[in-house]
Amino acid sequence: MTKIVVSKPYLDGKERKAVMDVLKSGMLAQGPKVAELEKRFAEKMGTKYCVALNSGTAALHAGLYGLGVEQGHEVITTPFTFVATANPSIMLGAKPVFVDIDEKTFNIDVNKINEKITSKTKAILPVHLYGRCCDMDEINKIASEKNLVVLEDACQSHNAKYKGKHSGNLGHAGAFSLYATKNMMSGEGGLLTTNSEEVCDRTKRFRQHGMRQSGDYAYIDLGYNYRLTDVLASIALVQLDRLDKFTLKRQKNAKYLLRNLAGIKGLVLPNIDKDYEHCWHQFTIRITPEFPITRDEFVAKLKEQETFVGIYYPKPLHLHPHFQKLGYKEGDFPVAEKLAKEVVSLPIHPLLTKEDLNRMTDVIKSIVS
Ligand SMILES: *Cc1c(COP(=O)(O)O)cnc(C)c1O
Repeated sequence: MTKIVVSKPYLDGKERKAVMDVLKSGMLAQGPKVAELEKRFAEKMGTKYCVALNSGTAALHAGLYGLGVEQGHEVITTPFTFVATANPSIMLGAKPVFVDIDEKTFNIDVNKINEKITSKTKAILPVHLYGRCCDMDEINKIASEKNLVVLEDACQSHNAKYKGKHSGNLGHAGAFSLYATKNMMSGEGGLLTTNSEEVCDRTKRFRQHGMRQSGDYAYIDLGYNYRLTDVLASIALVQLDRLDKFTLKRQKNAKYLLRNLAGIKGLVLPNIDKDYEHCWHQFTIRITPEFPITRDEFVAKLKEQETFVGIYYPKPLHLHPHFQKLGYKEGDFPVAEKLAKEVVSLPIHPLLTKEDLNRMTDVIKSIVS
């Protein structure tokens, strides 16, 4: 039996050739390939600017800096995400302020944002979790009323759309990751999109030791070495060419799973809405108490059949010691706590075959019957 894994990168001779070309050119650091990636990714997302960085975490860190987040500020975000959503605020001396999530979408509950806004709030950092956009009209409305900036954590949402517009072009800036498991990737890497020239300039400065763009060794502020290499940018460029195809395949796989897993008691399928074009970074179901076996038994059953699923995320951030130092405790975000016990991400990546999908749904159906 072939193994069905939860994520698998698609790479072929095109990526290998692109890397070899860079090696032959002798220019391995940030150079023309990075510039080309920035230009083409901005075009694809519909933004004026894009800045390449060496991780999604760096994109979030530089993006928050670019938007003016400083020591003492508060940044509103979700506790149901990867840790890299919340740490960049702490790196800047700001505090991540969590808001519970919406049970239907796994995303920040927009109805609970206002009550968390204080005089220190500077930014909202919504995460388009699993590749489904947040309710951005509502988030932008709150932000403009309260004079806040919005940075989208788009690390899972390459090519996802909200009301016809790409994620990363829905707030003041968007942060993407090119980590190996993402919908387009270069192993490691990040991209920051924005329509603001000022944010773009500040982000570039932060990427390069806080040095003025004119390159005259004038250090304006603290900065880092967050540069991407041309070797990795050349891989990302090939992946960008494939992004529409990848997305379509994921959407096809999702359609199949939605159709074949419908109507199973205790198994909650992902929410679909015409305003939200999902890019299916993950296909995440919920195994609720009405299901015949527990979530962990469900995972084990699939594993017996060489089918490996993911649990994203087994614990919301506020239940980890690192965030409990900020005063968070169990019970603070009941929806996130409940869903963390129920979620299972099924394989959805573009390399799955029809037989893989069939086997997966057959195993699940055999559990219920
Ligand atoms: C992957 C990811 C990140 C961080 O990206 P890296 O490239 O691994 O630094 C941040 N937020 C979310 C939601 C992610 O999935």
